[in-house]
Amino acid sequence: MKIQRIPVLSDNYVFVLSDPQQKVAAVVDPAVAQPVLDYLAEIDARLIAIFNTHHHSDHVGGNKQLVKHFPDLCVYGGAEDRGRIPHQQVFLEEGDTVQFADRSGQVFFVPGHTRAHIAYYFPPTASEETGELFCGDTVFAGGCGRLFEGTPAQMVESIGKLRQLPDNTRVWCAHEYTLNNLKFALTVDGNNTDLQNRYREVQQARRQGIATVPSLLGIEKQTNPFLRWDTLALQTVAQNKEPARVFGRIRGMKDRF
Ligand code: ZN
Ligand code: FE
Repeated sequence: MKIQRIPVLSDNYVFVLSDPQQKVAAVVDPAVAQPVLDYLAEIDARLIAIFNTHHHSDHVGGNKQLVKHFPDLCVYGGAEDRGRIPHQQVFLEEGDTVQFADRSGQVFFVPGHTRAHIAYYFPPTASEETGELFCGDTVFAGGCGRLFEGTPAQMVESIGKLRQLPDNTRVWCAHEYTLNNLKFALTVDGNNTDLQNRYREVQQARRQGIATVPSLLGIEKQTNPFLRWDTLALQTVAQNKEPARVFGRIRGMKDRF
């Protein structure tokens, strides 16, 4: 399974999964259709699936046009998003699986950013492979999505599920927000040397226009404050030990950052 990252709009990423042998492809969160169609033409592949993480227009905006071009494709999304994702045909719940090429993806129900948000995790099938996590606007590199339709407690539970995945999982999040996320992270976890080093690396990458997505889950566990509610540093900042309280306090600070 090959994964192509396509930058669209101001800071979104669309991901195209493809199977070069079968000449088929799937797309995660097509914000817009045309760049996806261009890439499919380039690799001469037929689109068979859209995997949506949630209903926001910068994630489903391309659905309609893609379905028009490939009437046989299947549109997947969360069960709770019924009525909110254009052309949705499959209504996924926690524990469901989706198939693409030789890989099988596990569905996680991760409400918080929206009440219906889901994530797709494709475990490695061979030792040299990485796991691939498509988490939409739940976890970002160095940050997390805003709580539009959920509570801190829900988001802690959702991110807690993703945090249990192996360190060598690539995190394919939907936005290039990393530099600003890490700037904020330093204000709440400034003595974290892994974070300091990551900030320098990301600063350099962004100066050269290099994408910082995907990141690795192992690195998120060490440096992303929204996966670190159980560390002393963040509990101290939040003046609390209770996970949802720590998370909620840090999220509130980020909202005002
Ligand atoms: Zn969103
Ligand atoms: Fe988004």
